[in-house]
Amino acid sequence: LDPVPSDIDISRAQQPKHITEVAEELGIKESELEQFGHYKAKVSLSVYDRLKEDRDNGNYVLVAGITPTPLGEGKSTTTMGLVQALGAHLGIPAVANVRQPSMGPTFGVKGGAAGGGYAQVIPMDEFNMHLTGDIHAIGAANNLLAAAIDTRMFHESTQSDKALYKRLVPVKKGQRKFTPSMLKRLQKLGITETDPDKLSEADATRFARLDLDPESIQIKRVVDVNDRFLRQVTVGQAPTEKGFTRKTGFDITVASEIMAILALSRDLEDLRDRVGRMVVGSSRAGEPVTAEDVGCAGAITALLKDAVKPNLMQTLEGTPVFVHAGPFANISIGASSVIADRLALKLVGSHKGAPAGSAAATKGFVVTEAGFDFTMGGERFFNIKCRASGLKPNVVVLVATSRALKLHGGAPDVKPGQTLPEAYTQENVELVRRGCANLAKQIANAKSYGAPVVVAINQFVTDTAAEIAAIQEEAIKAGATAAVPSNHWAQGGAGAVELAQAVVEAAKQPNAGNFLYELDGSVEDKLSAIARKMYGADGVELSALAREQIATYEAQGFGRLPICIAKTQYSLSHDPKLKGVPHGFTVPIREVRLSAGAGYLYALAAEIMTIPGLATHAGYMNVEVVDGQIEGLF
Ligand code: ADP
Repeated sequence: LDPVPSDIDISRAQQPKHITEVAEELGIKESELEQFGHYKAKVSLSVYDRLKEDRDNGNYVLVAGITPTPLGEGKSTTTMGLVQALGAHLGIPAVANVRQPSMGPTFGVKGGAAGGGYAQVIPMDEFNMHLTGDIHAIGAANNLLAAAIDTRMFHESTQSDKALYKRLVPVKKGQRKFTPSMLKRLQKLGITETDPDKLSEADATRFARLDLDPESIQIKRVVDVNDRFLRQVTVGQAPTEKGFTRKTGFDITVASEIMAILALSRDLEDLRDRVGRMVVGSSRAGEPVTAEDVGCAGAITALLKDAVKPNLMQTLEGTPVFVHAGPFANISIGASSVIADRLALKLVGSHKGAPAGSAAATKGFVVTEAGFDFTMGGERFFNIKCRASGLKPNVVVLVATSRALKLHGGAPDVKPGQTLPEAYTQENVELVRRGCANLAKQIANAKSYGAPVVVAINQFVTDTAAEIAAIQEEAIKAGATAAVPSNHWAQGGAGAVELAQAVVEAAKQPNAGNFLYELDGSVEDKLSAIARKMYGADGVELSALAREQIATYEAQGFGRLPICIAKTQYSLSHDPKLKGVPHGFTVPIREVRLSAGAGYLYALAAEIMTIPGLATHAGYMNVEVVDGQIEGLF
């Protein structure tokens, strides 16, 4: 339709297929599906085991972005448009794998994340709220751990060594027995005795006392609401916890390390191990204390037993979408789950030994997305997520818009909700061409990982033929395999057929699957490699605090982890004001923190808010239920 209706109106106008039909078309058996209403289902991980021997993986496509404007350049929309074109127009099996949005932004400023126009996940209201409860499960798991930590410190302070040990180790059927996580703690302490009654008094005390330093606790409580008043709180104010007050705070649920673990685990067992490795703080002697030590890892895994299964939904054109995990893009990888990617790649994979040219021998496509721009989402995707999954993308699709290129070419900055200045609505080839320096740098960044790069020019109604031709020319000059205008927002899959064909062609090229850095280098070398090679910086400058933290992590044996740098997405550099391709800057690293369970260190090159706030006019003010239908989500 012209003009294109609102996202929720488009979503509502389309009658979705029953989810069992989507599953069947993808080759998922009824016994492998757990339905949530009519249009959502969880998919059992047993699908992977059923297919892993007989199928080669399908093609793996990463959608990433150039340095964006604050309006978003349409990565999610392009992901949906591309799979709709592949699946519904070219007849090639194609799955989109995307993140589950947090309700914080949904009711805040940004709105939902289902894509947009005629390229979206439907029903978009179910997608944007609750889904199948995975985020709620993560909240419950995280808060159980937080409660366990404070309570443990309380019990340790109020009980003698002997009483603590006795109360800690449970008696079952008249016999005292260690739980499985207690056995792991014994092993960590090098205590070989496994009969609780035979431990020496000294070992019993060593075992029972975590002796957590309250100042070192890294686990905050979480909530899936942009509730700025919880940024800093004091816990333990009731008379029953007298003497145990402590300043702490809340994060948004998706910033929990448990969400990052869900995104990076390969299966439930791997998730269990990672949860156990989460460092919650240090003992007074400076030793890292883990969720396993607290005795909480098994229960957290139990709470996540269903969350670990990917959620199946569909695009506006009825092709399959996996929605699974959604780690906070600021301090985590900002990508959907390894589990969903591995599973989907088998589902669209080729049958081993199938005769060449037969349908069974064709490889379908899994298209997934990296949050923010390529220097953040893309870099972390390759160096953190691909390391965890063992997968290598066959093609990178880099989404560019003329409006972002104009911004990099010198047009004034824009804000959500503001009317676009004339530079954006009138033809200006000169601005676009100048801004293509940013596109060229991002193409070079993506190419350094060894996969072919296809530039998708996400078309807006104001784009002119001359502007698009200029982007195409500059993209090819910079080494893109193809640069294709795509009109999926206005036309759905039909508008992205040319893009899909370019991706199919590019997937035939070899992909080297390089990493940016080796894990063996020092933390500082890794930080410097990311800053120099991806951002174009002269290097990094570590604060005294960051140096101290790095020394501690290296001494504790965490120096070999990959690194996630938290910076702005609005510049290649750490300074959002520097557009285009900035030169001659050094990236200041204020702090380095550890996510041992997720398996990375994260470095802060910016002030990062881990629980956003709400605007005077926030998204929630628009939402109503009319005749049983949700109105006003966008
Ligand atoms: P990103 O994933 O890069 O943040 P999205 O795909 O979520 O971006 O798109 C951001 C917003 O812009 C959405 O509201 C979407 O509907 C809108 N949008 C995307 N592409 C277009 C387009 N070509 N024309 C108009 N609006 C668009």
